[in-house]
Amino acid sequence: MIKIEKLRINGARLKTTLEVMARIGATPGGGVHRLALSDQDKQARDLFITWLREIELEVTIDEMGNIFGKRSGNNNDLFPVMSGSHIDSQPMGGRFDGILGVMGAIEVFRTIYENKIETQRPMVIVNWTNEEGSRFAPAMVGSGVWTGKLERDWVYSRADIQGRKLGEELERMGYKGKYPARRWPVHAYYEYHIEQGPELERVGSVIGVPQGIVCLHWYDVYVEGTANQVGPTPMEGRNDALCAAAEMILQVNALPSKMGGNMVATVGEIHNSPNSRNIIPSKVHFTVDIRSWDDNLAVRAWEDLRKDFESIVERRGCQIRIEETWRVDHAPFDEKLVKRILDTAVNLGYSSYHMVSGAGHDASYMSQIAPTAMIFVPSIKGRSHVEVENTEWEDCEAGANVLLHCVLQSASEK
Ligand SMILES: [Zn+2]
Repeated sequence: MIKIEKLRINGARLKTTLEVMARIGATPGGGVHRLALSDQDKQARDLFITWLREIELEVTIDEMGNIFGKRSGNNNDLFPVMSGSHIDSQPMGGRFDGILGVMGAIEVFRTIYENKIETQRPMVIVNWTNEEGSRFAPAMVGSGVWTGKLERDWVYSRADIQGRKLGEELERMGYKGKYPARRWPVHAYYEYHIEQGPELERVGSVIGVPQGIVCLHWYDVYVEGTANQVGPTPMEGRNDALCAAAEMILQVNALPSKMGGNMVATVGEIHNSPNSRNIIPSKVHFTVDIRSWDDNLAVRAWEDLRKDFESIVERRGCQIRIEETWRVDHAPFDEKLVKRILDTAVNLGYSSYHMVSGAGHDASYMSQIAPTAMIFVPSIKGRSHVEVENTEWEDCEAGANVLLHCVLQSASEK
């Protein structure tokens, strides 16, 4: 039997696995369009389950559609070691976001299976439902409900732009499982993911080791003005909802420099109504996304912004309604696991870099209930959530090797 230190994943097999998955929902620009609970998501899930059964994992699906594949340990009374990520993608998104963490974990499980390695603890691979939150807001709802941080029926009731409800779509695609989406004790949770930013490339490191994830605050803003014929209506006295929104959007953009500290703020989605060139816009809905390592700074920033919004609508004679859609506190990772990833990278001969994750991940919710850490690999030119999202194959292999050895170490702990 091979010595554990010498064990490596099969990089070529990982590449093929990722390429096969990238065909499901492939876009002309080389990306992937695999929205949560779409037919493409179902197709990818079906294939994932086939692969789990091939390596004799015990597959279960819970009422949120989260998929788990379990491998027994020598002592199944011990809490399992868990790893995974998400299969769904952004609209016209990339081939690596999320899926690398699920396929990387499969490659780790395949390597352990074919080498007949026994572990002390059971091990579980997971695919979380709707991590992206772009078809159904908010994001990370599979892990959110499972960890007890989001309420199941509220999540079921969330609708997409066509008004289809998440719960109904889950049922339609046949992934509303019979097991309750309720957490069980986890010994360690590792999530392998692309960095989605430019830092690793900038410092020239292969393995990124985040100390945690920034907080995420999401708002939906609805502005209401008065529609009218654009020709005969004088400029003076108009209640133009889109102009009000435009001013607000620039305030969002200026917020981080105004507040100081480490923060980003973005408006990424906007709907204008009636959206006709000869009608003054009467209804605008847009989103606000604020992120920071400092939760209080993000809260203060929002309070500040809200006052600005109110004075803008007042000046323009519009109305405003604000919904706080989602709030996740910043998530510091488990120091012991973070150190393990750093040490493992060194032992395997990879350069590593200690950082912070600006992107949200299921690891954020997991860190609230179990020791959690993440492994990052570089995103070429720091691009993500776009079709050109890319990562070198050898970096994909490196990250999976780090995952393999971290998982094995955690699974050998008594
Ligand atoms: Zn992701």
